[in-house]
Parts: sequence; C-alpha cells; structure tokens
Amino acid sequence: MKFRHAFDVPTDIVREPGAKQVTIRRLIDTPDGADRFLMSLFELSENGATPPHFHDWEHEIYVLSGSLHVDLPAEGKHVPLKVGDVVFIPRGEQHGLATGPGETVRLLLVAPAERPPVRSVFLSEEPYEFDAAATEDSNR
Ligand code: ZN
Repeated sequence: MKFRHAFDVPTDIVREPGAKQVTIRRLIDTPDGADRFLMSLFELSENGATPPHFHDWEHEIYVLSGSLHVDLPAEGKHVPLKVGDVVFIPRGEQHGLATGPGETVRLLLVAPAERPPVRSVFLSEEPYEFDAAATEDSNR
C-alpha cells in the first residue's frame, strides 16, 4: 500500500500536440504497481487546453476546483463544468478540455493503465504551449 500527498507528486508539463498551459501529477501510476486504474491530477491555467483527441479507453473526470469546459468537436458543443461536476467520456468519443481568460481548473482524471498497443489520436497540429509563470501559483 502507498500513501502520499498530491502536492508531493512531481508536476509534469503536458506536451501533447496542441496542449496549452496544462500540467499533470501522476498520483497513482504503473510504477506504483497500478496495472488497471491510474489517477492523475490535471491543472490548467487560464487560456489552457488539452487538445481535442480520442482514444481506445475511457476517462472519468471530477472537477476539484475552478471551472472549465469540455469541447466535443464531433457535436460542435462546449459543455461548461464547475466544482463537483463529473464526466464520463466513453472510448472513441472526441473530447478536449479548455479554460478561458481568467479561468483555471484542477481536476482528477481516472483512466486505464496504457499498455501497448494503445491508440491515441490528437486532432491538433499545433505544438504544445506552456508558460511556467502562468502556473506558479497553482502549486499549492
Ligand atoms: Zn482523452
């Protein structure tokens, strides 16, 4: 069994194509011995985004603080989320997460462990963006 505090877990910059101002803390990961469920803490600072994408596994999301919206490009929809909102994104459904001006969010994301072969399709051709100064105040 392992115990830790979320803020003791190192923060990694999300470098997927089109990602903007997003960090991830891998709270429970495969090196911990988790072979089915992974739990991550995502933080988006203002004007942040995880790029629209889809993949062969599902996401479960719980909004801890702040607000954001979920982009559903296939349906042309943007669904606003607030603290306490829960989202289940089935496998294969296009989705992205985004914050607007002055908006930040911290959310928990649960996903299956990624074991090859795994397929993740990103719908952005932009490079990732991360401005460290913009997220300094989100470390605690
Ligand atoms: Zn996803």
